Amino acid sequence: MTDNFISAVVANKKGEIFELKGYSALGMVGRSFVPLTNNETYNVPFGTEFMFLPERVPILFNRKNEKIEAISENPYKKGEKVYPVATFNSPGYVITHIPAYEGTDNCKPLPLFSYGAVGLHKDKFRSAIILVDKERRQDLRLMKIDRVIAGVKKTRNLFPKNRLVVHLEKCALTYGCPAAKNFFIGRYEAPLPTSQACNAKCLGCISLQEKKDLSNCQERIAFTPSPEEIAEVAVLHIKNVQNPVVSFGQGCEGDPLLSSDVIEEAVKTIRAKTCEGTININTNASRPNALKKLFDAGIDSIRVSLNSVREECYNAYFRPARYNFSDVIESIDIGISNGKFVSINYLNLPGFTDTIEEVSSLISFIKAHPINMIQWRNLNFDPLYYLKTMYEVTPHTKNIGMKMALIEIKKAFPKIKFGYFNPPKEKFRYK
Ligand code: SF4
Repeated sequence: MTDNFISAVVANKKGEIFELKGYSALGMVGRSFVPLTNNETYNVPFGTEFMFLPERVPILFNRKNEKIEAISENPYKKGEKVYPVATFNSPGYVITHIPAYEGTDNCKPLPLFSYGAVGLHKDKFRSAIILVDKERRQDLRLMKIDRVIAGVKKTRNLFPKNRLVVHLEKCALTYGCPAAKNFFIGRYEAPLPTSQACNAKCLGCISLQEKKDLSNCQERIAFTPSPEEIAEVAVLHIKNVQNPVVSFGQGCEGDPLLSSDVIEEAVKTIRAKTCEGTININTNASRPNALKKLFDAGIDSIRVSLNSVREECYNAYFRPARYNFSDVIESIDIGISNGKFVSINYLNLPGFTDTIEEVSSLISFIKAHPINMIQWRNLNFDPLYYLKTMYEVTPHTKNIGMKMALIEIKKAFPKIKFGYFNPPKEKFRYK
């Protein structure tokens, strides 16, 4: 029975990861522990990062007595504390299980990453994942730093006074932002951050964190670029890239709808220079009227961030200030009725997203609001903290598993697109 189970890996306090012989790896879905099997896992994708989880104890399957055990000390090295290991998988993969572990009392929240379950089989690390997007848009092997640096120099010479170019240089060279790198290399999608403010307070906001024990991944843009500065960046990208996409709403800003006046002028300036390319906006969709103006100005597609389609769960994560969930729904409907390509940026976590309550709500939601695409994004937040928050908001009964959740949604809506990246308009109608 256990032959198909993959081996457990743990780490010591130095972060050295090793196999714990005699133990099998377990994943967690909601409150249940599930053995990771060879045929439900894949070799860890290139670009995936490994992490060990401090102040936490791995829960493993002991092959000898066939019991599930919390292992805080290396059974083969007395006194050596061991910790759970997780993977931060590269873009395009949905995690199906989080690692099985328990937190010690008062443990600090984990940093803003997603935590996927991992094990070992025939000396290969195996991740519990599903591939939803094959595109190599953020494949680090295709984004060599020397090409980025060359692009930075060329662009700086072209637009020496453009503050947005200077901001994106820091994003590319300091934060390692793949979108900013792609702009300087001239690939796929370019970022157009504009907003210093936001009207939500997401628990896992990567650009602003008020909690002392949690740090944001990057600083928010400290100025509002002019429509001309935005248009210079966008038109350069559109003219140099095949099937180009330029996107408002990035990780280094608040929400773009809070600078919609500047964006409206920028979009008109871009469209006055070229009708090529796809202008996209990633947003919390909190301001339907402002969005309508942007659609009229020439925005082609919208990606709306949602952790859930149930208001109480949405409010518990996004903590909206000065808008309501109904505004978000109204924005989605305006996008659909204006024939725009509408995606949801679905922040998913096994244990919540695959509950029958969330899956059935999502199916009813899409029936009422026929969106074009679901971008499956692993939630970058402490999984157990998130599950506790969501389970306190409303009861959840059963998990069907992420794999089954995707199958059920595709069965209900065969035409809906699954992926990870904003498609160019040339691909709006393709699977
Ligand atoms: S909507 Fe975006 S910028 Fe605003 S709080 Fe949430 S993650 Fe942060």
